[in-house]
Amino acid sequence: MQPRVIKTASNKASQFQESVIREMSRLAAQHKAVNLAQGLPDFPCPAELKKAVAEATYDDINQYAITWGDKPLRQAIADKSKKFQGQTIDPESEITVTCGATEAMVAAMIALVDPGDEVIVFEPFYENYGPDSILSGATPRYVKLYPPNWSFVEEELEAAFNDKTRAIIINTPHNPTGKVFTKMELTTVAKLCQKWGVLCFTDEIYEHIIYDGNEHIAMATIAGMEDLTITINSLSKTYSVTGWRVGWAIARPQYTLPIRKVHDFLTVGAPAPLQRAGVTAVNMDAKYYTDLSHEYHQRRDMMMEILDAVGISYYKPEGAYYMFCDISDRGFESDLAFTKHLVKDIGVAVVPGGSFFGEGNKLKHKYVRFCFSRRDETLKAARERLLKLARV
Ligand code: PLP
Repeated sequence: MQPRVIKTASNKASQFQESVIREMSRLAAQHKAVNLAQGLPDFPCPAELKKAVAEATYDDINQYAITWGDKPLRQAIADKSKKFQGQTIDPESEITVTCGATEAMVAAMIALVDPGDEVIVFEPFYENYGPDSILSGATPRYVKLYPPNWSFVEEELEAAFNDKTRAIIINTPHNPTGKVFTKMELTTVAKLCQKWGVLCFTDEIYEHIIYDGNEHIAMATIAGMEDLTITINSLSKTYSVTGWRVGWAIARPQYTLPIRKVHDFLTVGAPAPLQRAGVTAVNMDAKYYTDLSHEYHQRRDMMMEILDAVGISYYKPEGAYYMFCDISDRGFESDLAFTKHLVKDIGVAVVPGGSFFGEGNKLKHKYVRFCFSRRDETLKAARERLLKLARV
């Protein structure tokens, strides 16, 4: 008998590549480049959070938490949602604490979407939504966001909805463009969700990183959406603790039940001491959030100054901490060629824009993403190097 050829990957895992963003961080280390690729702060998290983690472990919060989340953390999340969004959420039946927004999104999709279902995704999109769709068996249907202000065409969105549509994914403030969806745009999406009985997975992890008086509007607060929305959020960006891996999904009990089941068998639970320390984070006073936004304003303005000095055009972000830049006039064959030149010869790592698009979009190879959640020194070091790119 012929020996059986041993498959090295499942059909699902074969359909997507390793994360380009994390690959860029590896290249940055290899070339000793200033890393403006991965979306994480290079500055410390608030001191009180470090203390809260230490206290939690000394208080013996070191065993499994309740699978769907430490009760005080769920209570704090519910209280904060009430305070900031005016939402009434039952922490007992409507919140699932997960290992980051990453697990919240994939667990929610596996729990609520079936193979053959279509999921509408605005393009460009945060790269995880592609593999999330494949892992849940869904077929992504892309709806384009158009530069310069990354808005969508209502008729195109309308045309994407059909009998197979199970869900739409929204991300506001948006990675990679920095767009903040307006109330009018969200209302357009909401009307279509209600017309077709479609769920909305809304990734709002940058809700507090917002500029120029723009307003974050939570999809669940749009009329009629409270029963159709799965809100994904996390400690990662708001409290500068991307390594804690604590996030959550908020949804009506009928959706929370299956999400909790999937979450239980995927991970059992998020790290218990970090969930407990998360209570201190989520309960931060109003000043914490205004200071956060103010500090990011300064970093954004510094990044804009750098790009202006270098002569790279960008969309001025309304939220989140990225600049999505059109580099098609820089004389490189593609986003990848530009990125490689930048990391190897200039010494700055960024993310090629292609990783935020599906196949066939004309814009796929025209953009790169700079991340500016960095200390001043890091941004200054990047400036010095990037100036070598400036046109004379
Ligand atoms: N969602 C978006 C839009 C992101 O940009 C990121 C990280 O960059 C994540 C989710 C991941 O969040 P977490 O660290 O909570 O898993």
